[in-house]
Amino acid sequence: MRQETLSPAAAPKGPLGLYIHIPFCRRKCLYCDFLSAPAAQGTIERYLRALDAQLLWEAANCKGYEVGTIFFGGGTPSLLEPQQVAGVLERIRDCYRLSKDAEITLESNPGTLTEEKLEGYRQAGVNRLSIGLQSVFDAELKALGRIHDYGTFLENYRSARQAGFSNINVDLMSALPGQTLSGWMDTLRRVAELLPEHISAYSLIIEEGTPFWDLYGQDRRPRDASVPPLPGEEEERRMYEQTRELLHEYGYVRYEISNYARPGFACRHNVGYWTRRPYLGIGLGSASLMDNVRWKVTEDLDEYLNCFAPDTAGPEGVKALLRQEEQVLTKAEQMEEFLFLGLRQSAGIFVGDFRRQFGTGLREVYGSVTARLEEQGLLVFYEDGRRMKLTERGIDVSNYVFSQFLLEE
Ligand code: SF4
Repeated sequence: MRQETLSPAAAPKGPLGLYIHIPFCRRKCLYCDFLSAPAAQGTIERYLRALDAQLLWEAANCKGYEVGTIFFGGGTPSLLEPQQVAGVLERIRDCYRLSKDAEITLESNPGTLTEEKLEGYRQAGVNRLSIGLQSVFDAELKALGRIHDYGTFLENYRSARQAGFSNINVDLMSALPGQTLSGWMDTLRRVAELLPEHISAYSLIIEEGTPFWDLYGQDRRPRDASVPPLPGEEEERRMYEQTRELLHEYGYVRYEISNYARPGFACRHNVGYWTRRPYLGIGLGSASLMDNVRWKVTEDLDEYLNCFAPDTAGPEGVKALLRQEEQVLTKAEQMEEFLFLGLRQSAGIFVGDFRRQFGTGLREVYGSVTARLEEQGLLVFYEDGRRMKLTERGIDVSNYVFSQFLLEE
C-alpha cells in the first residue's frame, strides 16, 4: 500500500500512560535479559536525580494530556525507599495533570519488601502492587536464580494486604526447567487461593546472552545431563490451555494472551499499550509512543546519569540521548500495530475503531486476510460483526496470524 504519514498534530490526545523504569535489581536472575543490574545506593540516588530532570524536561511535551496511569517497572522498583517513590510522584503531580483516579502500579520482588515499605508506598499514592513470584516451589525459584523463596512471598503478600493494597498482581512463569503440568497447576492453584486481583502468567523464554542460553541454547535442549530439561512444545501448550481453565474456576477472566483478572481489575496501564494509547517512558531504555511517533531513551547508564550534567552538549545533546531510534509511524504501520496489539486482548478489537482511527474500513484494507483467517478458524467476528477476535486456535498460532496483517509498502 502507499506509504502515508499521519500528521502528528492531527492525532487526538488521549489519557497518557507514564512508565518509569528502575533498572536495578539485587542480583541478576539466570533467565533475565531486561535492562537491569545491581547498583550501589549512590548510583540509585544519581539515577533518581536524572529521572527527576527528565520528568521536568518532558513535561513541556505533555501539555494537554492527563496522566491516567503510572507504572514503576524494572528491574526491581521495590529497591526504592518509599520517600524516593514519593519524590517521583510529587514531581509528576507538580508538573503533569494527574487524573484523580490514576492507577499507580509499582513492580516489586519478594525479599525487597517490608511492612514499613509497603505502608510507605501506599501513603505515597501507589494503589496497585505487582509482585514477581514466578513459582511456589523453592527448588524452581532457586533454579531461576531468584532472590526469594515462597515463604517470603507469602509474608510480603499478607503485609501488602495489611498495608491496604486492594489491587495486587502476582507474576508467574510456566515452562520452567524440570516443571511438569501438575507442578504448574499446583503453583496456579496455590496462588489463586490467595485471591489476588490479577495474575500474569508468561512462559519462560530462553534469551540470548543469559546464563540460561548457555544451558539450553536456541534449540532449548540441555547442554549436559546435569541440567533438567524444559517442557516440550505439546506440554507447554497444555499448560497454557489449562491455565485458563483453572483460573476461570477461581473467577479470573483471561483478558489478554498472558493476563488474567477478576472483573474490573484488568491492568489499565497495559490495556493502554494494547489499545495504542499514548505513553511516555521515563528512565533508562524506556520506550514512548506519542502522536504516532515512537522513540527510546539511551540504554547506556552512564550516558543517562550524565544526560543533564552541565557539560552535556546543550539541549541538542539531551535530545540525542532521550530521543533515540525516533520513528514517525506510517499509516500502514499504525494499522498493523492496531491489529497486532488489539488482537492480543481476548475481546479483540472494535471494528468501528479502525475506521475512526484511519478513515477507512477494516474490510477494505484487510477483507481478504480476515476472510481467509476466518475460514481457517483462527479469527471470528462477533456481536453482529462489530468486534473481531482470535479464536483459541488463533491464539495458539498468534505469530502466524499477526504476520498475515503485515502490509506491503
Ligand atoms: S528481578 Fe526481574 S528484572 Fe531483576 S533480574 Fe530478575 S527477572 Fe530480571
